[in-house]
Formats: sequence, structure tokens, C-alpha cells
Amino acid sequence: MKPEALLHPTDKGLYCPPGDFFIDPVKPVGRALITHGHADHARAGHAHVMATRETLDIMAIRYGDNFAGAAQDAHLGETVTINGVTVTFHPAGHVLGSAQIAVEAGGIRIVASGDYKRRADPTCAGFEVVPCDVFITEATFGLPVFIHPDDGAEIARLLDSVARFPERAHLVGAYALGKAQRVIALIRKAGYGETIYIHGAMEKLCTYYQSRGIDLGPLAPATIDKGAKDQFAGKIIVGPPSAFADKWARRFPDPVACFASGWMRVRQRAKQRGVELPLILSDHSDWNELTQTIRDTGASEVWVTHGREEALVRWCELSQIRARPLNLVGYEDEAE
Ligand SMILES: [Zn+2]
Ligand SMILES: [Zn+2]
Repeated sequence: MKPEALLHPTDKGLYCPPGDFFIDPVKPVGRALITHGHADHARAGHAHVMATRETLDIMAIRYGDNFAGAAQDAHLGETVTINGVTVTFHPAGHVLGSAQIAVEAGGIRIVASGDYKRRADPTCAGFEVVPCDVFITEATFGLPVFIHPDDGAEIARLLDSVARFPERAHLVGAYALGKAQRVIALIRKAGYGETIYIHGAMEKLCTYYQSRGIDLGPLAPATIDKGAKDQFAGKIIVGPPSAFADKWARRFPDPVACFASGWMRVRQRAKQRGVELPLILSDHSDWNELTQTIRDTGASEVWVTHGREEALVRWCELSQIRARPLNLVGYEDEAE
């Protein structure tokens, strides 16, 4: 069997004809296998969804209990056969519940990795290398200039600023699913034990992470008591990036605008957003992680999706690995 006969791109997403299922479809389909809970990968309205317990729970939190006609738990490492096609979910290290999906039939194994990263993350299971014939990789940071720094050093810069400016509030912009909880967990790992204040939009997800045994320490809603503007002096507040543009952010005393994203590596982006303290923290692989992972899988062919596809395709070709862009539409740089 040719790999394209097992899995190929369509306008609804990656489709497996023999198994009659889609991976991370962007339009409603009969049967969807979903890698993780970010909104562009996990959409509501499919007749049948298979995903990890955590991804299903996250979809229910975001879309309500009726997010799909039927839902099936995928247990990591457990093999399930769908219309003669073997399917196995493996951890991807991206956000809580994130998984790579290995699809196998006719002696060919293709791994659709969704979004992934290699470095340790206290909020989710670490990426597992799955040997395969074809590896489908993201390329969000698929340029050699993107090398993410050590996350401990980034958090140390934040805590240093908090200590130096005790009269100012530190507002940390971080996406509500994954990044926010990781930032909080990293702050705890650095020894900060004080209450961290969170925007209402991330309350449910933080509570869910805690229910799954991820220690985020003391959290409280970032609501201001009337006339008590100073109550947030010297405090850390975490909110979604979208909240920073509106009135919400202006309630805090002389705030230091921080933003946790791999894109903060690009000075211009930080400047445009008015970010005073950019924190380079990404839930996606940097260039070295992307190329190392391709080598680790032993894949003889690589399909590259959302991001800077050309550079990674070129790198593969120079490394004697067949490669092509998938040109899937509907995926964004969401988590960054
Ligand atoms: Zn994602
Ligand atoms: Zn993505």
C-alpha cells in the first residue's frame, strides 16, 4: 500500500479511506480521531469522536456535553482496530491529553503527531518517539532561527521582575489551554508559593488540570474589590492574551505586561503587542526539536503541516529524507 492510500489530505482534514475516519477534521465528519483540545484541532459537531479522556473532557468543558454524537476514550499505548486499520495513541507532550496518532495497515505505519514538543512539561505526559515509515510533523517554529531558551530561565526573569517592582502588578498573557497552566506550574517549580490570580476565562480549565492531579498551588480569581486597586501590587495575574486589549487589563496598578509565547523570540511581535517583559515559552517544538524528532522516528518520508513548511521540507531533502508539505487548511498558530 502507498502511504497516500492510507492517509491523505482533504478539505475536511487528513482522511483515512480504508478506516473511514479523519484526524483533527476542520469540518463536521462521521468519525473523527482528535490529537488534542486546541480549538482548531478539536471542533464540535462530529458524529463520533475518539480521543484521550483528557481531550474529551476539555472538549466537553469548551463546547458542552453534546460536543459530539458519541465519544470513545483512547487509552495511550492501546491498539484499536477501525475497519481493519490499526490505531494507537501516544503522548505528544504538547498540552494535557495531547496525543500522536499512529495509523497502520498493509505494512505501513504513519504517525500524525498533531502539535508536539520534546522538553519536559510538568502539566502533561512527555513525548514518546514512535518509529514509523511516514512522520507527519507540525512546523510552527520550522526555521533555524527558532531555538527556544530554557524555560526555567524565562520564569526566573519574571520572578526577578516581580521582586524588583513590588508596587506593580505583573500581567502574564498565556493561552487558556495548556500555556496558562504550564506557566503557573513552572512558577511553582521555581519556588513561588503565593496566590496566583487568574482571569475568569481560564478558571474551568485550571480547575480541570488540578482535578487531574496537576499541582498549580493557590489560585484565586483576579477580581478587584471596589476601590482597592492596590490589592494586586506585587502580584502575578495570568490571563488570556485577548483580555489584554480590553478594559480588564487597565484595572491593575501600573501593570507590567508579560506574554508567554514562542513568538516572543521575535522582538517586533513583542513590540507590536506592547509587551514589556516577553517570556519565550512555547508548547511547540523549536527547530532543533523538529529535526531531532524526524531523525528519532526513523521515518523515510515526512509530511509537513501548519507552519513554515518549506524550510523543514528542504532540511529533510538535504538529509536524504523524502518530504512534502501537506497544505492542510484551517489550522492556526493557536497556542502561540
Ligand atoms: Zn495545539
Ligand atoms: Zn496546531
